[in-house]
Amino acid sequence: MSVSPREILQNTFGYPEFRGPQEEIINTALSRRDALVLMPTGGGKSLCYQIPALCLDGTAIVISPLIALMQNQVEALLALGIPAAALNSNCPPEEQSQIFNDLKNGNLKLLYVAPERLSAPGFIDFLQTLNISLFAIDEAHCVSHWGHDFRPEYLKLEQLQEAFPGIPRIALTATADERTEKDIISRLGLQYGQIFRSSFDRPNISYHVGGKNNAMAQLMKFIKHRHNGDAGIVYCMSRKKVETIAAKLQENGFEALPYHAGLTAGERAHNQSRFIREEGLIMVATIAFGMGIDKPNVRFVAHLDLPKNMEAYYQETGRAGRDGLPATAWMIYGQQDIARLRMMLNDNPSAEQRIADHQKFNALLGYAEELACRRQILLNYFNEKSEPCGNCDNCLTPPDIQDATRDAQLALSCIYRTGQIFGAGHIVNVLTGNKSDKVTELAHDQLPLFGEGKHNSRHEWQALIRSLLARDLIHQDMEGYGALSLKESCRSYLKGDAKFAIRREEKSSGQARVSPKILDNPEEQALFDKLKALRLELAREADVPPYVIFHDRTLLEMVHLRPTDMTAFSSISGIGATKREKYGDAFLDAINGEAEEQAS
Ligand code: ADP
Ligand code: ZN
Repeated sequence: MSVSPREILQNTFGYPEFRGPQEEIINTALSRRDALVLMPTGGGKSLCYQIPALCLDGTAIVISPLIALMQNQVEALLALGIPAAALNSNCPPEEQSQIFNDLKNGNLKLLYVAPERLSAPGFIDFLQTLNISLFAIDEAHCVSHWGHDFRPEYLKLEQLQEAFPGIPRIALTATADERTEKDIISRLGLQYGQIFRSSFDRPNISYHVGGKNNAMAQLMKFIKHRHNGDAGIVYCMSRKKVETIAAKLQENGFEALPYHAGLTAGERAHNQSRFIREEGLIMVATIAFGMGIDKPNVRFVAHLDLPKNMEAYYQETGRAGRDGLPATAWMIYGQQDIARLRMMLNDNPSAEQRIADHQKFNALLGYAEELACRRQILLNYFNEKSEPCGNCDNCLTPPDIQDATRDAQLALSCIYRTGQIFGAGHIVNVLTGNKSDKVTELAHDQLPLFGEGKHNSRHEWQALIRSLLARDLIHQDMEGYGALSLKESCRSYLKGDAKFAIRREEKSSGQARVSPKILDNPEEQALFDKLKALRLELAREADVPPYVIFHDRTLLEMVHLRPTDMTAFSSISGIGATKREKYGDAFLDAINGEAEEQAS
């Protein structure tokens, strides 16, 4: 081996040190052993196969499920001066034959391919004629039915073990619970490989979850107060809702774009490329958007609808703050959202899967309802123990916890006494003693518990009912009026035997929170903005996303260190030889021009 992994890390990628288990994983691949890498988003998985690919002779094959991801990665590699290409259905024929030629001539260090390409007739045979250094299987959870994103084409990867004996395979994923992990190992035949499990913690992400009352107002308040001008993703469940929310954000002066499977491929590509190439855009999207978007400076991910389970939540929120700088995961949910998702989960024809899906959804709801540290719950779900984090809503502002045993009992009795055929609106009317037409008509004002819940506002009762639903104590019918009915599990609460605690609803005060501070003073901010503008200009010229030139983190370091010469400049993290040559002068000028202006 001519160059060491460390030299490549420093000279090509411009990073001073390996992160976490990277070096060990790289050495495993170099000694031709298989590996399963479980590492959170932003943990630095790519280097784990890119560096061995550069150390070893031949071409590394990277299997990746999404075209956007491949293109991002290839763009970034080319910018570092590394010969790489992506083979997918988007490739025009001339480009394809060029790639095949390059492969035959051994000119590529990395080739990214979609999994369906592997199953194309003759492709594996073709690969067997080449000098392959290793296989990297990205998003490896796609091979498992238990993962949340099963892709049948991934099953083809089972063949690699036999077709390429002795060639190391590195499977990587950011989301796998125990069952999924076992499945990956057996399907990909990694029994003799090594497992590298990093902590899944994303300490820079601050988690916030709240009740939904006016989604649009809550969302705008959140963005304005915490992330004004930042790039972010807003997830919604339906296409229609995506369109509505995007339009409303635009009307209110936010730069927002829609993304969902109902747009034409052209529109989707256009919006995605704007999100990646411009600064500070908000993408309102269904989950069709995101996998494979590795824009590092997404500062927030907002959920206006509940994801199906913790894995999905963790993966979606994980798209925030890949660069390690402060970011927020924010979610609001209401009673309707819970009922709607439960109904969707019931659509699954397999009873076994249905039960598993509901269990997983309950875990997510448990997280959402949690009154203590959210990170502890999240990490615990992935079998990690941790201390209270100090960086989630419950840690930052401990909730005012209220014993609601008696209220829960009241609400449950009310549902029972009125015949388990009414929606939340009517139940709340009865509890608060509101003589609506329906109440009078049905003589529900004659019930002993009519008006027994006057001590709470409607809003508080709604929140309590949401909480009963979230804890799976009651059921809501999604047809008609959304009738509430009791579940077997509520028995001890109905009798008042089990304690029921909830968060006291905040009296929606407009307490302003400032966005997380990255820079200390206006002068630093001005230089940062200037460097960002220069980066955008260079990115436009090179037709690449700004972060392919330099990450925010690298620009921040320039602001803090103020290098005056090339030696100081090169010491900054994220600046390798190629980038130093290409951009060093321009940035040094910008930094030092700024310094002179300050001095004069
Ligand atoms: P993942 O695929 O695990 O989500 P990436 O491979 O995209 O993460 O890496 C996340 C970010 O961390 C990237 O911007 C990458 O350049 C950076 N990075 C990776 N390894 C290191 C390192 N050793 N030192 C500094 N930055 C690193
Ligand atoms: Zn916490």
